[in-house]
Amino acid sequence: MQPVKFTSKEDIFEELKKEVLKCKKCELHKTRTNVVFGEGDINADLMFVGEAPGKDEDLQGRPFVGRAGRLLRDLLRDVGIDVKSVYIANCLKCRPPNNRDPLADELIACFGYLKKQIELIQPKVIATLGRYSTYELTNQKGALGTLRGKVFQYRNIKVVPMYHPAYLLRNPKAVDIFVEDLKKVKSLMMQ
Ligand code: URA
Ligand code: SF4
Repeated sequence: MQPVKFTSKEDIFEELKKEVLKCKKCELHKTRTNVVFGEGDINADLMFVGEAPGKDEDLQGRPFVGRAGRLLRDLLRDVGIDVKSVYIANCLKCRPPNNRDPLADELIACFGYLKKQIELIQPKVIATLGRYSTYELTNQKGALGTLRGKVFQYRNIKVVPMYHPAYLLRNPKAVDIFVEDLKKVKSLMMQ
């Protein structure tokens, strides 16, 4: 008899990544340098979901490695969240030209990948960074100023909308609010 071969979560995740790295489901594949699949602990309790890769992310193939990303990583460290213990992904895996806003058809085309990432990781908490990921996972279209810090539900997972780190670069006064939300996310994750 053939031995039963179990497919591990790591293998399924790698298969998904391979598929996304060659994806051509929307026009963004024509202008990208690298696909930014996401990175971190695939067993994380906490997941961050941003909008789309920017210039640095497109060049390096890694999420949140530019100026906004450095701020995010610094603030995580400040509140005692180890960046290696979380998973970081985006709504779009390819950079929109000149960092323009994502288009509805691009978001729809790419959402299946994010859904699979969430399904596999099964985090306790998802922090949505900015309005696009907030809308995708909470269906809320209101201003982030009112949605941030509230707790929504995606399937059985708590979702907390937060300001996008790029917004913090333009509005340094919002950093304190972002840190407050990070602390909330951290406490929800430990419940
Ligand atoms: N902004 C995002 O939304 N995602 C990144 O990966 C980088 C900047
Ligand atoms: Fe595929 Fe998403 Fe990239 Fe579009 S943005 S080509 S759907 S991976």
